[in-house]
Amino acid sequence: MSQPKELQALMRSLRFVETSHNVMDIINQAEKQDVSYTQFLWSVMLNEQKQREQKQMEKRLKWATFPSHKTLQEFDVTEQQSLSKKQLNQLSDLNWLEQIYNLVLLGPPGVGKTHLAIGLGIQAISLGYKVIFISMGDLVHALKTEEIATKSRVRLKRIRDADLIIIDDLMFMAMDQQEANIFFHLINELHDQASIILTSNKAPKEWGELLGDPAITTAILDRILHRVEIVHLNGDSYRMKNRTTIFGQESVSN
Ligand code: ADP
Ligand code: MG
Repeated sequence: MSQPKELQALMRSLRFVETSHNVMDIINQAEKQDVSYTQFLWSVMLNEQKQREQKQMEKRLKWATFPSHKTLQEFDVTEQQSLSKKQLNQLSDLNWLEQIYNLVLLGPPGVGKTHLAIGLGIQAISLGYKVIFISMGDLVHALKTEEIATKSRVRLKRIRDADLIIIDDLMFMAMDQQEANIFFHLINELHDQASIILTSNKAPKEWGELLGDPAITTAILDRILHRVEIVHLNGDSYRMKNRTTIFGQESVSN
């Protein structure tokens, strides 16, 4: 019987890195339970696979740079009357992502646009997709500094490599001609390659005012709206309805 350290080193050299960390526990467990050789080999293989998946998921969650952890399970459809349970299920099954559809989430502040976008992003990661979340402000900044900043270059590389790009708060800021242009180039690159979720408090017909140039606006809209589902979220701000105050929970109705 080889020594634990030698066995671990051998496993590492064979790229069984995850199992190498707890191989002695697995062996001890198996000895206690008197399992068959086949069962034992299975448990070793499954352990490696499970831990690799877990690690991959953690890495992808980190890469996605979500501003907070919000899940679809935490999204209360009874609070959001404009989205039915059935529609939420349809969004959650991610067939649209497989078919490279875009998703535009519209509505005033506080209605759950960002929550829903993050929830869908986390769901996509759990199914093995590569996702990245970026605010429109950060995206424009990254595009403008791509040539000079490594951080921006890395971020944009991940964006170009992702299956789903979530661009949060589109058109929150007015863009100048150069910004609109580089944004268009990115959308053009991503078009038909990856799905995009856009959240915005302005309807697409108002985007022109903020993008400035009507030709660029048309070109961007053309690509984004080519294959798209537009979801209008409305109602009162969940944030305002459920805010806690210094003096205790407050309801909008009182
Ligand atoms: P928006 O992006 O539309 O401004 P957010 O997604 O940031 O709104 O939502 C504001 C806060 O309210 C977040 O903490 C979010 O988790 C919560 N929230 C909004 N809608 C819902 C909902 N339907 N169910 C659960 N939490 C919600
Ligand atoms: Mg938001």
